[in-house]
Amino acid sequence: MQKFHMRIAGEDCEARSGQWFESVNPFTGDAWAQIPRGGAADVDAAVNAAHTAFKSGPWSSMTASARGVLLHKLGDVFAANAEKLAELEVLDNGKLRAEMLGQMKYLPQWFYYYGGLADKVEGAVTPIDKPGMFHYVQYEPQGVVGVIAPWNSPLLLAIMKVAPALAAGNTVVIKPSEFSSASTIFFASLCDVAGIPPGVVNVVTGFGPEVGEPLVKHPLVARIGFTGSDTGGRRVNETAAKDFKRVSLELGGKSANIVFEDADLDAAARGAISGIFAATGQTCMAGSRLLVQRSIHDKFVEKLVEAVRKARLGDPSSPDTDIGPVSTPPQLDKTLQYIEIARSEGATCVLGGERSTRPGCEKGFFVEPTIFTNVNNRMRIAQEEVFGPVLAVIPFDDEDDAVSIANDSQFGLAAGVWTSDLRRALMLPKRIHAGTVWVNAYRVVSYMAPFGGVKSSGMGRENGLRTIYEFLEAKSVFINTVKREGNPFVMG
Ligand code: NAD
Repeated sequence: MQKFHMRIAGEDCEARSGQWFESVNPFTGDAWAQIPRGGAADVDAAVNAAHTAFKSGPWSSMTASARGVLLHKLGDVFAANAEKLAELEVLDNGKLRAEMLGQMKYLPQWFYYYGGLADKVEGAVTPIDKPGMFHYVQYEPQGVVGVIAPWNSPLLLAIMKVAPALAAGNTVVIKPSEFSSASTIFFASLCDVAGIPPGVVNVVTGFGPEVGEPLVKHPLVARIGFTGSDTGGRRVNETAAKDFKRVSLELGGKSANIVFEDADLDAAARGAISGIFAATGQTCMAGSRLLVQRSIHDKFVEKLVEAVRKARLGDPSSPDTDIGPVSTPPQLDKTLQYIEIARSEGATCVLGGERSTRPGCEKGFFVEPTIFTNVNNRMRIAQEEVFGPVLAVIPFDDEDDAVSIANDSQFGLAAGVWTSDLRRALMLPKRIHAGTVWVNAYRVVSYMAPFGGVKSSGMGRENGLRTIYEFLEAKSVFINTVKREGNPFVMG
């Protein structure tokens, strides 16, 4: 059993309560790590460390260019440790090593991109309409940023917030998911190696109500970046609103992956698979509703079932595995419950539909890749997020029908469109109410491309140039250069 520590003010520490909890490997079902069970006192210590680092000390007086150089170094140190970081994530969340390693090798780009941007945030002098008045706008960091992350891609989803927050000059306290703390703890130690001053990046581990809530409520936390469920996001938003804290929320989805009869069906089948069976369906952007034009429905479903039937379930660390376990026992239960709900609603299970009993999968949290047909969009299986390897196939007649089904959802995170018609490729993204639309592609993310949702999928955007402004406040400065006359009781 490995033991991990929280990271506060550049020091390894245990929870002040002395309590620990265990992290379970989803492939073996065995506990593999002990993690400190933090509480409000630990959050207070971490936020104070972050606040001190923000207000005084090297970080607060550093030029934006110097911050950028440090972020570049952090990217290099991160890249040098990609294998180790990937290994920790696989142990915690059971996702394929190939995918986690790919993510770890890609993540330094966030540090390079936002590190490069750090000294390119410019204020502006305004051609103000008041004679004798000089006016300029400057951008200032917000202070301590609380970063709350889920378990499915622990570091990716934390670093999408941490990199722009640091580039803007803020300091951070990260609260990883209780199911996947190890990689974030190790990441904090890499910040020291890169020369990020103590207190700039802190990690407090533990459970949502015990660590997440006190972090959101803490008076010295200026902003929260949250990724997780819509239930958690709603709660965070309500709590933060009491003190008018800035919040960004990246929440769940029930994204429509739409296949038209004119599409390259082989490519669309690959896209449908990566939409819902990659990462065992545990991605916010999962293409969990597959909308297939009625004229090709049966042929396409047959092609898909044939391909998915060959998927190899097993050890996520093996290069021969296509689908790993689901990450947590609650997620296993939830997925199996939704399979029963779909059956009881009258959907037809054409593949899978049960916990996996394949050799090698006995101890882990495995669910057979599952495909339901005869789904209509009003069913719970079409409206609620499963977050597992369960696909709901819904037929549609024409473009209007597809758009109306796609938009008939409380969520609006992403969508896919598969077509060879140029007009459709250009026009459909405008009609789909979602933060991201892929055409003839699915599940593509870039540090340069804004990502986020509408409706219950959240608010705010991550990635891309403008995100740095989400971690800055505009300050308006008026400097009077002339003697003012007139009635001082009247606004001038
Ligand atoms: P979750 O909401 O249960 O937990 C997310 C994080 O919030 C965890 O660290 C948890 O401890 C913490 N938390 C829980 N309650 C809290 C509270 N009251 N106050 C503060 N923090 C609290 O979500 P999860 O199960 O870890 O993650 C899966 C969910 O995340 C799915 O719904 C998925 O769609 C979503 N997700 C969204 C994106 C995106 O970018 N839109 C990306 C990945 C995952």
